[in-house]
Formats: sequence, C-alpha cells, structure tokens
Amino acid sequence: MRAEIISIGNELLSGDTLNTNTYYITRRLTELGIDVFYHTSVNDDVHILKDVIDISLRRVDLVIFTGGLGPTYDDMTKEVVSSTLGLKLILNDELKEALEDRFRKNNRKMTPNNLKQVYIPEGAKYLINEIGTAPGIFLEWNDKVIVMLPGPPKEMKTMFDKYVIPLIKQDNIIEEKIIKTIGIGESQLESAIEDIIKENKDVYIATFAKEGIVDIKIVVKGKNKDKLEKLLDDTIRKIRSRIGNYIYSYEDERIEEVVFKILKKKNMKIAFCESCTGGLIASKFTRIPGVSEVFDRALVTYSNTSKMEELNVSPDTLIKHGAVSKETAYEMAKGLMEKTGVDVALSVTGIAGPSGGSDTKPVGLVYIGICTKESSKVIESIFNGDRVSIQNRTYLKAFNELRKYLLLEC
Ligand code: ATP
Ligand code: MG
Repeated sequence: MRAEIISIGNELLSGDTLNTNTYYITRRLTELGIDVFYHTSVNDDVHILKDVIDISLRRVDLVIFTGGLGPTYDDMTKEVVSSTLGLKLILNDELKEALEDRFRKNNRKMTPNNLKQVYIPEGAKYLINEIGTAPGIFLEWNDKVIVMLPGPPKEMKTMFDKYVIPLIKQDNIIEEKIIKTIGIGESQLESAIEDIIKENKDVYIATFAKEGIVDIKIVVKGKNKDKLEKLLDDTIRKIRSRIGNYIYSYEDERIEEVVFKILKKKNMKIAFCESCTGGLIASKFTRIPGVSEVFDRALVTYSNTSKMEELNVSPDTLIKHGAVSKETAYEMAKGLMEKTGVDVALSVTGIAGPSGGSDTKPVGLVYIGICTKESSKVIESIFNGDRVSIQNRTYLKAFNELRKYLLLEC
C-alpha cells in the first residue's frame, strides 16, 4: 500500500509550526508496513489543495490529510476533498447532537459556523474527536482510502492511534529488530549493506545516526510468522557478516548497559578515573538502575596534582610524557586499580579543546586506559568536533573499548 500525507495550514509553510504530524504519521505507517511515498504541505488555498488531491489520487492508495477541519472559514479540507471527488456533504445527526451536547455541558454558546463540523461526505465514516470539536473522516472511494484528521497534534495522534490504525491495518504481520552499531559512519555502513537493503521488498532496512551511534532498523512484513522470523534472522546474519565488528547489541539499548550486563555476568567491579570527560562516564553509567552491583567509584582527576595524589601517577611521567599521554592513561588506570581493589579500572585523559592543542597533541586527542589484575591496554583516538562532541565520543568509545576488552580478555 502506497501512502501520501497531506498537511494543510499556512503556519506550516510560513515556518511558524514544525510539521510534527507528518513525522508522527509516517512513523506509525512505517511500523504498520505501509510505505509512505509522499509528504505534501499546502497553504489554506482551495485551488492548490484541489490540485494536490487530484495528484495524490493518481499516485497512492491511501491519502491522509491533517488540518483544516475546524469551524472557521479557512478550514476547508472536507469541503475541497468532497467537491473534488464529486461527493455531497451530508449533515450527520449524531454528530450534531454530540456537538450541541458538548457546548451545553461546557456552558458555551454554539455559533452557526460550528455546524460546519457536523457535515460528512456521503459514504464516509466519522471519527470521534474526544479532545476537540472537529471530527475526523474515514472514506473509501474507488479503491482508495482517504482519511482526514484535525491539525492539533494531540487530537490527531489520539484519533490516529484509536480509530485510524484499526481501520487501515492490513492483515500482515510485522516483525522488527534494531541493531546497534558504534564506530562506523552512516554512509560507510549503508554502502557496506546496500545490496541487502535493496534485496527484498518485504524487508525494510533503514539506518538512523546519532552522534557516534548508528542504528539499523529492520522491519519485515508478510503473512507467515515462521517465515518472517527466518527472514529476519537471515537478514541479521547477512548484516553481521558484513559489519559484525561494529555491532554492539541486537537490542535497543545503550552501550553502557551492555557493559553493565557483562560486568554483572562476570561478577566484576569497576571504577573510573576521568580527566577530560569530567564525570560524564560515571554519570551515564549511574543512569542504569542496579548499577551499584558492579560500580565502585569514579574520580574526576582533572589537575596533574590530583592525578598524582589520587592515582599515584608519577611526577616523572607527567613531566616527560604530559598529562595527555599513553603513559599517564596507563598509570591512572593502574593507580586506581591498586587503590580500590576493583576488578577493572578505566581511565580517560584527553584534550577536549577548543584550546590546549599542539602539532603533536591536537585537540581531540584522547587516551583510554583499561587495567585489570592480569592485563592492561591503552587506546589512542583522535576525535573531531567541539568540546561537547569530543567528550561524548570519548564516553561512547570508552564503553565500547571496555565492552570489547571484557569480552575478549576477561
Ligand atoms: P481547529 O481549527 O479546530 O483547531 P483544524 O483541523 O482546523 O482544527 P488546524 O487549524 O489546521 O486544525 O491546526 C490547529 C493547530 O494545530 C495549530 O496550532 C497548528 O499549528 C497545529 N498544526 C496543524 N497542522 C500541524 C502539523 N502538521 N504539525 C504540527 N502541528 C500542526
Ligand atoms: Mg483550523
């Protein structure tokens, strides 16, 4: 099924209102396995609206309108759709009674223009609006489905979820899965799996990038549950064979949650010492409920003195190699391990900028140290971006390195 969403309202094209309705409906339709082919936004203008209705009826099977169902003169969706389809608008007694009742209960006087809202196109069903006054419309016309919903987002969402979804839901079963990746850019990822994305029209694969993390969403649709599960598994297997190194989870979870689970499973305790992230790593970690089972402490050791006093980093190391160095990162993690007796200690030291960089040590240079009783590792990275991005990337990388280290070395 091909769908188009037509949003109506001057405020959408003047930049006064962000078109969140289209975004919401698109997400919902995609979840239902209905493909959205077009987004159209138009002013409150009879001729333009008539044109886009004509066009949409030629190119899609489902048209969803939002906005312009209210009582005022500029609300014209129902009128223009009906006249374009050659349908009469008929007064609906139930709607009239309900509207009069509503005004009576609210002790408000109904003005004549409100009556406009109780007319529906012949052959249509009305959709009750429990929040506002303008009802929605559901209409099947020449193999097409036409839905009209009011513009206020709260009304639109409530009516869409409650009435429209059951009416348009096809008897397809939908299964979906999220794959979480880290350390690979969206364009690189997409080109690595491009052929898998295009392979099967019943498998919808999309990528969504947020700073440092790219999600792969896989949605499969069809009639047979077993077949769908197999299709989903096969798709995941193919994706894994291409980019498995970058996948950190097959659940919709954050990287620190994965680390938490591994530590819990291995019955290990962890501590952090942070310089350039200033406690961000600890803060993200302590968002997880139950983290006290694995988390001992975190120290923000920003100054050289604190690195010496709290972590026993040697003054010679700081003088010879500097605070941002492989050697310091190692001594920080090792010092923390010895001081606290945890099973694994993580350190970060870096230059978050914008100043403080040099040719040999540029802004964005970060060292991540990991130390256990048996072994240790220091990872050097250079991140681009402003101070906040560098800190965020450091936090993500720190947890990802921990994840890999715990899985491979511990
Ligand atoms: P009513 O006039 O009874 O409020 P309506 O169906 O005529 O309902 P509109 O007049 O189009 O709705 O819009 C009413 C409100 O909803 C406005 O505040 C508008 O900014 C907001 N709105 C309309 N369309 C959208 C949209 N696509 N996304 C987000 N907000 C919207
Ligand atoms: Mg209006």
